[in-house]
Amino acid sequence: MQKIIIAIDGFSSSGKSTMARELARNIGYAYIDSGAMYRAVTLYALRHGMIDADGRMDAERLVASLPDIRIDFRVDDTTGKSRTCLNGEDVEDEIRGMEVSSHVSPVAAIPEVRHRLVSLQQEYGRDKGIVMDGRDIGTTVFPNAEMKIFVNASPEVRAHRRLLELQQKGSSADYEEVLANIRERDHIDRTRKESPLRQADDAILLDNDNMTHQEQMDFLLKTFRHIVDGKH
Ligand code: C5P
Repeated sequence: MQKIIIAIDGFSSSGKSTMARELARNIGYAYIDSGAMYRAVTLYALRHGMIDADGRMDAERLVASLPDIRIDFRVDDTTGKSRTCLNGEDVEDEIRGMEVSSHVSPVAAIPEVRHRLVSLQQEYGRDKGIVMDGRDIGTTVFPNAEMKIFVNASPEVRAHRRLLELQQKGSSADYEEVLANIRERDHIDRTRKESPLRQADDAILLDNDNMTHQEQMDFLLKTFRHIVDGKH
């Protein structure tokens, strides 16, 4: 069967990563979480003192360090889930914390950071058979992707989901803090100059405020089959 590229974009904590990962597993495709790549670059900047306590960033130094930043994904044998590595170190847990979350959007707005990560992401999709989620996958990374989904949910629903996720990991963030972070990231992601978050003209909108997990999966699988069958 001919393989396609599936781009899943949407707002922070809209559940798109879980959906994308599960869809990929179901159809035997590779899954790439592009947000994890921006998070890993942010962690690098934090660790190297390029972001100070007030959130001021030394973008010039970060851009000069880009050739020293290597990001790859390894599959955990026990869980089967992919884990993000920064220069060979597993940083999957660290990049999901509040510190990285509160600094990632300004880092992702730096054009040089985006250029570098976008070309890595395009490399992953060279042979197709990939599901990638992010903010600009259907607009910039793979504008010709055969299947494009744009996921949305209200900020409040997303904040509840994110809080639950953090609590399950033993983090003690509070609802208002998480909601404020989500609103701020939405704003930066939508208004940045370089490939802002927006729904591609040919993307299908999936508003999942009132959808169960199963309903979303059924919708994605049906859409996938429809597109693939139509290609014969
Ligand atoms: O998807 P996730 O919330 O983990 O992404 C973290 C951040 O990375 C987003 O808030 C956004 O600023 C940035 N991002 C991006 N483009 C992507 C994926 C993520 O700008 N394709």
